[in-house]
Amino acid sequence: MSDIPKDHPRYASLMTREKIVEGVELGITSQQGLVAQGRGECFDYLTGEQTTDSAFAAEKVGVAMLLLAKRPILSVNGNAAALVPDALVKLSEATGAPLEVNLFHRSEDRVNRIINHLKAHGASDVLGSKADARLALQHSRAIVDSEGIYNADVVLVPLEDGDRCQALVDMGKSVITIDLNPLSRTSRTADVTIVDNVIRAVGNMILLSHEMKGLDEAQLRKLVEEYDNSRTLSDAVRHMIRKLEELSDI
Ligand code: ATP
Repeated sequence: MSDIPKDHPRYASLMTREKIVEGVELGITSQQGLVAQGRGECFDYLTGEQTTDSAFAAEKVGVAMLLLAKRPILSVNGNAAALVPDALVKLSEATGAPLEVNLFHRSEDRVNRIINHLKAHGASDVLGSKADARLALQHSRAIVDSEGIYNADVVLVPLEDGDRCQALVDMGKSVITIDLNPLSRTSRTADVTIVDNVIRAVGNMILLSHEMKGLDEAQLRKLVEEYDNSRTLSDAVRHMIRKLEELSDI
């Protein structure tokens, strides 16, 4: 990794870039993942690189859904594996939701590398290599495990692609996504859209999972029933507009 001084004003953002580049070098992140990260960074800049109140509320609802689920699953792509491997393992342990590697640019080699990477970060079991079921999509993006995503009732898909998100929703699954772009097709298709950096979002969700384990089923259900994703999306856009207005007063 490059030698970035800790007092650099963009230290956190530069370290994130380093992790993604390292992911490409390790063969776990695709080159396209670099572009996706760049798009995310732009929206993160507009949010002020912080978790907004409405993103935190969505994280809470996402955790409630995972805790209520009968067969929850955490889908892991190459960017998430590079950025938050430890945190994903911890979130999996805290919610009881297994991890499944699911890639847009799939190769068996990359799936196995990510599985091994997650295991090196503490995961005991990672799904994604059986590849014995298909979503209603063309090409390798459809490949999933039957005991994982295919039969799951609640799926967390950080940094998902819009078509696949739609395919999961069409199968009747509840979909939670983490996506800094509130305008993406994924953001607009998911049941719960967490407009936050995956690094902050997964960290918050681990803490929330521990806190919310004390709630009973009725309290968790109330959180989910009262949630309105279109309000989350419009809050996120309004927050960005306010930030831009502040910045335009030079
Ligand atoms: P869609 O098909 O949903 O419209 P897209 O084509 O805009 O998606 P993809 O490249 O498929 O985008 O997915 C990457 C998404 O992940 C982008 O919307 C980007 O803003 C978001 N993203 C990238 N890096 C991060 C990150 N670190 N945290 C959260 N979201 C991120």
